[in-house]
Amino acid sequence: MRSVTILGASGSIGRTALAFLRNHRDKFLLRNVAFGKDWQAALDISREFNVASVSFEDTAAARSFMASRAYVGARTGSGPRVVAGPQSAVEMAADCVDVVLAAISGSAGLPSVISAIRSGNRVALANKESLVCAGPELLALAARHGTSIIPVDSEHSAIFQSLLAGKKSEVNSLLLTASGGPFRDAPLAEMANASPEKALAHPNWSMGHKNSIDSATLANKGLEMIEAAYLFDRGEEDIEVVINPSSVLHSAVCFCDGSMIAQLGHPDMRMAVGYGISWPDRMPSGVKRLSLADMGSLHFSPVDHARFPCLGLARSALRAGGDGPLLFNAANEVGVASFLRREIRLIDIAPLVDHCLDKGMGRFRGPLDEVSDLHEEAVRFCRAEANRLELRPAVST
Ligand code: MG
Repeated sequence: MRSVTILGASGSIGRTALAFLRNHRDKFLLRNVAFGKDWQAALDISREFNVASVSFEDTAAARSFMASRAYVGARTGSGPRVVAGPQSAVEMAADCVDVVLAAISGSAGLPSVISAIRSGNRVALANKESLVCAGPELLALAARHGTSIIPVDSEHSAIFQSLLAGKKSEVNSLLLTASGGPFRDAPLAEMANASPEKALAHPNWSMGHKNSIDSATLANKGLEMIEAAYLFDRGEEDIEVVINPSSVLHSAVCFCDGSMIAQLGHPDMRMAVGYGISWPDRMPSGVKRLSLADMGSLHFSPVDHARFPCLGLARSALRAGGDGPLLFNAANEVGVASFLRREIRLIDIAPLVDHCLDKGMGRFRGPLDEVSDLHEEAVRFCRAEANRLELRPAVST
């Protein structure tokens, strides 16, 4: 039996992972689960999987969990240990298990990723920010502790799997696919005046608000390009981004002999989440095989950089190095939040990011343990810069 810790168990990746474990009870033992504040979900999950420890970032949620009738019964017997507070996920992550699924989103997930690696735990990584904000440091830490980071993002999982077809020295370049989001073919004016509701409607993947807006601007692909560069040790010039509207070709690796090895499948996170947990083995994920005959064709097109300037900005940030990627991420986060509050237009996110990179680079460097604080500082900086710029509010239709 392999032991598993899930950090961020009530989110979409966490729930997908639980469904995977439910289908493979004979192979995995869920030992620790970290929640933000969803104590009711925690009750169900801890009973179903008979977990050893449960943690809550929110201490009131931990109290509600322990006060509930269902838990009182368990407490006299073998109920789970309960940990609460902002450091609780860090504590969960430190317990030695076979794999830690790091699925707490945002910079809040960073300390627990660091903690898991320091304990020598293999990490199935679903938290983008940790690699974007501190990729080189995090990978060096994993190397020092002799452990691996298995990507759970669908594109990186595809590249990780495709890389198994050859040696590192035989790789020429990586190919990252993007769906192009809801404005791929829309008139630019429509994109300019898009409401948050319109921008949130992703054609293929169902995701949280931040991810959906990032897909509409391709900032998401910029973040993924940065992640891929760090994870697979390539420069941005070695990572091509191409539009595949159906999101069926999840990404590919181009080898020196002209071969391109890709991973294809339905756009369904169950595959990448399952593989992240089961690696180096493959196990049924519940996803049906793709029928190429039914699909008929796979469409590809180049990225329109005038429409999606965020991707080019991510490349500049990565080339600049240092805190460039951290600042790109912070500025984009501020831009997305402002757009969702209808304070700026969707197309204002890129100029805001550009401006913040220009003004702020070099201010947010520091050791790994300070990366979360540096991220918060960068967000405050970008918010102040956003207020300085006079951007038009988004239309509210
Ligand atoms: Mg992705």
